[in-house]
Amino acid sequence: MAEQNKNNGAPQNTQRNGKNNKKPRMNFMWVYVLIAIALGCLSVIGDKDLPWSAAASKNVPYTTFQEYVKQGYANKIVANKDEGTVQMFVKPDHIRDVFKTGVDQAGKAPFVQAEYGSADKLEEFVTAERELGNFNGELSYKRSNDTFMQVFWNLFPLLLIIFVWMFIMRRMGSGGGGMGSIFNVGRSRAQLVEKGGENESKVTFKDVAGQASAKQEVQEIVEFLKNPQKFTDLGGKIPKGALLVGPPGTGKTLLAKAVAGEADVPFFSMSGSDFVEMFVGVGASRVRDLFRQAKEKAPCIIFIDEIDAVGRARANNAMMGGNDERESTLNQLLTEMDGFGTNSGVIIMAATNRADILDKALLRAGRFDRQIHVDLPDLNERKAVFKVHLKPIKVDKSLDIDLLARQTPGFSGADIANVCNEAALIAARHGKQSVTKEDFIAAVDRIVGGLEKKTKVMTEEEKRTIALHEAGHATISWNLQYANPLIKVTIVPRGRALGAAWYLPEERQITTKEQMLDEMCATLGGRAAEELFTGHISSGAMNDLERVTKQAYGMIAYMGMSDALPNLCYYNQSEYQWQRPYSEATAQKIDDEVKKMIAEQYERAKALLLEKREGHAALADLLVEREVIYAEDVEKIFGKRPWVSRTEELLEKQGEEEGATPDSPPALPNREGAESTEQSSAS
Ligand code: ADP
Ligand code: ZN
Repeated sequence: MAEQNKNNGAPQNTQRNGKNNKKPRMNFMWVYVLIAIALGCLSVIGDKDLPWSAAASKNVPYTTFQEYVKQGYANKIVANKDEGTVQMFVKPDHIRDVFKTGVDQAGKAPFVQAEYGSADKLEEFVTAERELGNFNGELSYKRSNDTFMQVFWNLFPLLLIIFVWMFIMRRMGSGGGGMGSIFNVGRSRAQLVEKGGENESKVTFKDVAGQASAKQEVQEIVEFLKNPQKFTDLGGKIPKGALLVGPPGTGKTLLAKAVAGEADVPFFSMSGSDFVEMFVGVGASRVRDLFRQAKEKAPCIIFIDEIDAVGRARANNAMMGGNDERESTLNQLLTEMDGFGTNSGVIIMAATNRADILDKALLRAGRFDRQIHVDLPDLNERKAVFKVHLKPIKVDKSLDIDLLARQTPGFSGADIANVCNEAALIAARHGKQSVTKEDFIAAVDRIVGGLEKKTKVMTEEEKRTIALHEAGHATISWNLQYANPLIKVTIVPRGRALGAAWYLPEERQITTKEQMLDEMCATLGGRAAEELFTGHISSGAMNDLERVTKQAYGMIAYMGMSDALPNLCYYNQSEYQWQRPYSEATAQKIDDEVKKMIAEQYERAKALLLEKREGHAALADLLVEREVIYAEDVEKIFGKRPWVSRTEELLEKQGEEEGATPDSPPALPNREGAESTEQSSAS
C-alpha cells in the first residue's frame, strides 16, 4: 500500500484551488460562456448601421466599378488600402440601375465593392472622372481596423459584463486560481496534504496532547488504513465515517491530520462552508469532485471541517422553503458516502461543534455512525498540551507547567497554543533571554480578556462553586439506592453546561416511583449543595431545575403518581393542545403537588448532604484539584455502594467471565450509552 502511495504522490503534488494539469472539465459554466458569445454575435449581426452588414452591396470587377463611376452613379468613394478594395456608394437615383431593386429594399447606404490594382491608378482615375464631371463626391481612405473598432464598441458593454462577472467569480472563489477559475467553480477546493506534496507536514499522535479516548477510538482507523487486508480478509467492515464532536480549538483537525500522518496516507481537508456557494449545483459538483479525487488516491482521508454548514437537518417543512442548494449538497454527500464500498479505503472524518443539529441521515449506519468526542482538556491534559507547545519556546528553567495548567481552566488546546505564542511575544518585547512565568501569566490574562465572551473561562471562585455543585450530584447519587450509579464527574465546561456527571443508565423498560424520586433528589443535589455550602444559589442549576420540573409534572399529571391525584393521566395528544383536559381546580392541584414533590426532594437532598458533609467536601476538593473524578475516587470517599444495580451486576459478571479481577473498577461502558444520561444531567 505504501508503495502505491508513492506512485500516486509523485506527479501532482498540489491540487489546491483545482489548478492542475488536466483540462478543465466541461460543465455548465461553458454553456453560460457560449450563450454569452452567441448573444454578442447576434447583437453585432443584427446591427443595421454597420457598413458591412448594411443594406445592399455587391462585389463587382474593377472595370464595372469604373463603368459605374463614368456613368455618374457614385455618390462617395471609400478606398481601403489594407484590403485593396474600394467601395462606391451609389446615388439614390441610380440604385435601380445597379441593384435592380427599389430604393426601399436597398437600405440606407448601398454600395458596390471592387478590388483595385494600385492606389495611384485609382486616384488618377477618380481625379480624371472628377474633371470630366462624372463624379463630384469625395474620395476617402480608411483602414480595415475601423471596422474592428466598431465591432469592439458594439461589444464593449457585453465585454464589461463578462469582465465583472469573472471578477465576481474570482472573488467568490476566494483566492481562486487565475482566469481558469471560472470554469472550475464546480471543482472542490480541498487542500491536500501528502507525502512529497506542497503542504507536507507530518502530524502524528505525539502532536496531539491528551484526548486519550479519542485517540484510542481513531486508532482503529489508522490500523485499517495501514493494513486493510487484515480486516477485509476476516470479512470485517470498517466505518466509512467518523464524526469528531467538540468545541472549537480542541484539536479535531489536528487529530484527523494525525490519523493520516500515522497511517501515512494523503489527507484531503475542506471546510463545510466551502461547498456552499451562490450558484445552484456547485456544492453537489464539488462533493462529487472531492470524492473523485479522493478515490484516485485511496487509501486516504477526507476531512470536512464544520460539517454543520452542509449537514444541518433538512427542513421538513416545505412551506419554509429551506435552503435547496445546501440540501442538494447534503444529498450528494450522502449519495457519495453510500456509493463507495466499505473497503475502497477512503475514510471520511468530519468535525462539528454540535452533533445534535446534524441531519439524522448523516448519522445513520454506514455514514458517520461513529461519534468521537473531543472535549476541552482537563488539568492533566492541559499540562500535556502545554508541554507540546512549550517545546519550541525557550522557557525559563523555573517555569512551573503545573501552575500554568491550573491557571487555565476552560482553555482549549488552541487557546493554550495561543498563550505560549503570546508569552514568547511578550518576553521578546521586553528584551528577555527566555520566557518567564510572568510572561505566561500576562499572556493568560490577555487571552482571558479576549476570550471571556467566546468561551467559558472560569474564575477560581466559580470553579469552586461548580465543584460543590457537581459534588452534590455525585454525593447523593452515590448514597441513594435507586439513583443511577455514577461513572465520572467533571467540572470542565462542556457545551453550554458548566460541568457534567456521567451515569451508568439502568437497562430498564419501566421505572418505579422510587427510582424517579431518587433521581430527582440527585438532580436537585447540585443546587442544594450550593445553598448549603456557599450560602448562595446560582444560575448554574437552571438545567437541573428544568428537568426536575418537567419530571415532576410528568409524574403527577401523566403517570398518576401523587397522593392527591392518584391514577389519573391527563395526557392530551389531541390537535388542540391548548385545551386542557382538566378543570381549573385540577390544574391548581397539579401545580401544588408539583411544588410539594420538588420541595420534599430538595429537603431530602439537603438532609443527605448535611449527613455526608465531610465526604461531600472531600469530593469537591478533589474535583477542584483534578477537575475530573471517577467512580473509584467516589468509592474511596464513601465506600462501596451497598446496592448493586442490575447493569453493574451484568458488567461484573462479564468481567469475571473475561477473567478480570473482580476488584477492578467498573469499566467505562460505551460512551454512547452513558451519553444520553450525561447530556441530560449536565448542569
Ligand atoms: P479544531 O479543529 O477542533 O477547531 P484544531 O485542530 O484546528 O481545532 O486546533 C487548533 C490548534 O490548537 C492546533 O493546530 C494546535 O496547535 C492546538 N491544539 C488543539 N488541541 C491540541 C491538543 N490536544 N494538543 C496539542 N495542540 C492542540
Ligand atoms: Zn447540576
